[in-house]
Amino acid sequence: MVPFGMTSIRTLQSLDQAPEKHEPLLGAIEGGGTKFICAVGRSAERITDACRIETGEPEATMTQLAAFFGRYPIEALGIGMFGPLELRPGEDYGSVLATPKPGWKGFHFHKHLAKHFDIPIAIDTDVNAAALGEARSGAAQGCGVVLYVTVGTGVGGGVLVDGQPLHGLMHPEFGHIPMPVLRDSAGYLDTFDGSCPYHGRCLEGLIAGPALLRRTGKKGETLAPEDPTFDWAARYLGIGLASAVMLLSPERIIVGGGVMASARLLPKVRQALLETLAGYVVRPELLPTGVDEYVVPPALGSHAGITGAFAMAERAFAKGVR
Ligand code: ZN
Repeated sequence: MVPFGMTSIRTLQSLDQAPEKHEPLLGAIEGGGTKFICAVGRSAERITDACRIETGEPEATMTQLAAFFGRYPIEALGIGMFGPLELRPGEDYGSVLATPKPGWKGFHFHKHLAKHFDIPIAIDTDVNAAALGEARSGAAQGCGVVLYVTVGTGVGGGVLVDGQPLHGLMHPEFGHIPMPVLRDSAGYLDTFDGSCPYHGRCLEGLIAGPALLRRTGKKGETLAPEDPTFDWAARYLGIGLASAVMLLSPERIIVGGGVMASARLLPKVRQALLETLAGYVVRPELLPTGVDEYVVPPALGSHAGITGAFAMAERAFAKGVR
């Protein structure tokens, strides 16, 4: 039996508490060149349904997206999307800019979704979303400035500054920074002319999946980890990361993507980064003893993007901006 006095105190305490916070039902999309991952739930940790849609022509993809999310009373939607994207406010916000993917160039992705769903919708690049995911519950927790890099069919880099995705003029395009011509250990110049249709020998043109294929005639995942092509890739990526360290001063660099996973490249990339920086940036993270904790794989693995998309949906809901 509970004494009367204690019961009264409990009642008063419960009256004093704020009403239970509404936890909205959220939608999240990770839009890639080959597939769209879609999920519904209260958070990335509490997903109640998910599906995979093959990336086809935009209209067909939109129909499938609308059919999936239309089954649920979602209250906000967060999207990490392949780019480049128009992220400045205005008529074209959320549209896809230059891309070789058929039908997607100029496609008003955000506008099409807004036609189906009258809810707050947030869109950002797939790599900015992945960076947000890692900051929320992965390898970038507690870091103010973060670089998230992916090396797969393309090379991308998302940047967070004080926890916010960096946009600016457009958004960072880490994959398309120009690269020097390196020499191999015998002193011969790397004669590969690169595969980027815009720049040839940019970072993506030298180390992404299509570049490896063009250099070797083989797909990256079929190459042995000790294939010399990966030595080139690690050195170029190390130079790219050194540029990012100098320009952005990230507190942690996360490197993921299919090429990284198949080639176990990270130790060589760290070494190339330190060699390129040549001891100029004096920080424990950039010593041989600290770099393993500085350049790291994504803690969330392939879930980084969708986790970030949920975080974006949550923010969009809180802001209420459509
Ligand atoms: Zn390029």
